[in-house]
Amino acid sequence: MIPVSTFAGKTIAVFGLGGSGIATAKSLLEGGASVIVWDDNPESVARARADGVEAADLRETDWNEIDALVLSPGVPLTHPRPHWSVDLAHTAGVEVIGDVELFARERRARAPTAPFVAVTGTNGKSTTTALIAHVLESAGRDTQMGGNIGKAVLSLAPPQPGRHYVVECSSYQIDLAPTFDPSVGILLNLSPDHLDRHGTMANYVAVKKRLAAGSETAIVGVDDAHCRAIADRLEKDGRKVIRISVAHALDDGFFADGAALMRASSGRAEKLLSLQGIGALRGRHNAQNALAAAAACLSCGLTVAEVEAGFKSFPGLAHRMEQVARRGHVLFVNDSKATNADAAAPALSSFPRIYWIAGGLPKQGGIESLKPFFPRIAKAYLVGEATPAFAAALKGETDYEISGTIDAAVEHAARDAASDPAEEAVVLLSPACASFDQFRNFEVRGDAFRAAVLSLPDIEPIGEKRG
Ligand code: ADP
Repeated sequence: MIPVSTFAGKTIAVFGLGGSGIATAKSLLEGGASVIVWDDNPESVARARADGVEAADLRETDWNEIDALVLSPGVPLTHPRPHWSVDLAHTAGVEVIGDVELFARERRARAPTAPFVAVTGTNGKSTTTALIAHVLESAGRDTQMGGNIGKAVLSLAPPQPGRHYVVECSSYQIDLAPTFDPSVGILLNLSPDHLDRHGTMANYVAVKKRLAAGSETAIVGVDDAHCRAIADRLEKDGRKVIRISVAHALDDGFFADGAALMRASSGRAEKLLSLQGIGALRGRHNAQNALAAAAACLSCGLTVAEVEAGFKSFPGLAHRMEQVARRGHVLFVNDSKATNADAAAPALSSFPRIYWIAGGLPKQGGIESLKPFFPRIAKAYLVGEATPAFAAALKGETDYEISGTIDAAVEHAARDAASDPAEEAVVLLSPACASFDQFRNFEVRGDAFRAAVLSLPDIEPIGEKRG
């Protein structure tokens, strides 16, 4: 745990006790602050009290006594409208911040030279964060990983010189971090879909501002127009920007040329390393993650050989194109995290011959957008409530069966893939649906897939995953 000493002697309100709220309250208490917590959910309040934290309704609190409101990133700061606790704080002139801000202040106070890599973007945050942490650790660096992945940032070990922090940040967390100052800030990509869904262009502008204002070095994926504009803006403002691209060669920056990762400077490009044969980093989307990770690790002073060694031993994250097992020429891949068509596209584009297990609770838009990948699908195995809609979309395009359950789908797909003449056939769970019709969450669904695969005769499991 990181005791937050920068608020010693102050009184802090903490609103939102679902995720990191309790960890935040404990860190503040440990650092010598007085803390009042609250949540709109009475069960969360009861849990906090049972945990020994003082809870009181912040509507009945004297805000003149409060020095800061620490808001959980899940609680609306601006959209669709500010939460009532935010309104009260604004009226009282009290600053509203989040746990990442507390971390940033604590690092500045205790160990400002401790390398701090922050990772954000629409897709690939967890993979990139885990990859960087793995590479740093493999190279013998003292490494702490957390934020949106694994532990809350304030549950990590306290900052000290030489200790590296790799922190996954949502745009909400960055919004709540006005003095965000990572040594390396990564913005992987921004998808317009995401902007539409949340209607929060303002949040993304905030991300841009934080990166601009804070990062010593900003690493920006320039394959989408939003990020390109941000990179241009940062450079105009005189910030240090490293551009990365999987779409085209760059004169300056890091780019992918097939499986080769290239580094260019003033128009001269050199090959750094190849992703060929690294199972956990298959696919173009992972090349983007790997480029960002390579740029970040080299910025932290690692050698190319150390980066390459770390990439080769990266086990990958569970449920994200996770290679679970092999049987002969058949590879079994768990991509349960793909809960909509957009998220399933990278996996479908990564393998040429697929026995596709899909379905669950359908999302708007269905699988129409995946049509370009249908020729890769040898057969689809449909499960859950989406079955009629997916069957209608696949009819006349590719062979399919109604399997009903993950267990039946795995059994049938494994049987069919075994006699496929291709060099490699892949049984892929990439459902393009939420899991809630049959499972508690996507993790439980992925675990069910893994268990069904591992119970097949003559199966050879592949390594343990992080996350
Ligand atoms: P996040 O933490 O941002 O949700 P993850 O690393 O957990 O991202 O990956 C989730 C899914 O998003 C993956 O299964 C993959 O389908 C897709 N994905 C991963 N990296 C990228 C990327 N760089 N660009 C686009 N999609 C990606």
